[in-house]
Amino acid sequence: MPLDTVCCMCRRLYEDGGHLFLKCKEVKAIWRELNLEDVRQDLAEAVSVKEMMVKILNLNHKQQLMSMMLLLIWWGERNKWREEGRRRTAGEVAYLTALLTDRFQAKEAKRLLPDFRQAQSSQAQKWRKPNSGHFKVNTDGAYDSNTGLECWGFIIRDDQGMMVKSSAGEEAFLQNALHAELLGCPAGLTEAARLGLNQVCQEVDASADENCD
Ligand SMILES: [Zn+2]
Repeated sequence: MPLDTVCCMCRRLYEDGGHLFLKCKEVKAIWRELNLEDVRQDLAEAVSVKEMMVKILNLNHKQQLMSMMLLLIWWGERNKWREEGRRRTAGEVAYLTALLTDRFQAKEAKRLLPDFRQAQSSQAQKWRKPNSGHFKVNTDGAYDSNTGLECWGFIIRDDQGMMVKSSAGEEAFLQNALHAELLGCPAGLTEAARLGLNQVCQEVDASADENCD
């Protein structure tokens, strides 16, 4: 069976692991953009996948994460381009790689900080039922000041605590967690209105106040 073995990203050379991830001119631009050209050159000298992995494991933590993230994202890019004809620019892939690496590190830091977890759990409040016949919309937000990325979410429950509906979304370039949380409010209320619920309480995480009408 004849197979097309040419690299689909550059259409110039044969695709193997070394070419696709390290030597293709398309991917080289991204390693450069991420200030990882030295790392790329070193990895390209490896004579086996195992040797390359050992080199990655010996990198400093940030470079290690970023390299792994790039390999993963680039494989996805290659498949998307091959199967669906869609691809990002080198700048976009570099940005995404850096962004996801930062997010991953932020999550990791949270896991490593028991104080942070303790503070979080002591803040958690027990959910209280709304008045009989009412529905309650709870909203919450999360914000990463390094990336300006944030997520909001809401959940609508009935007076027995049964979930009626929930949803979540993501926004970029907003100001803080409260801002994220506030975005969940109209989303939750709009959904409640769409469902025809007319006795609705709203509760946000950052505030103990409830507004019922
Ligand atoms: Zn190529």
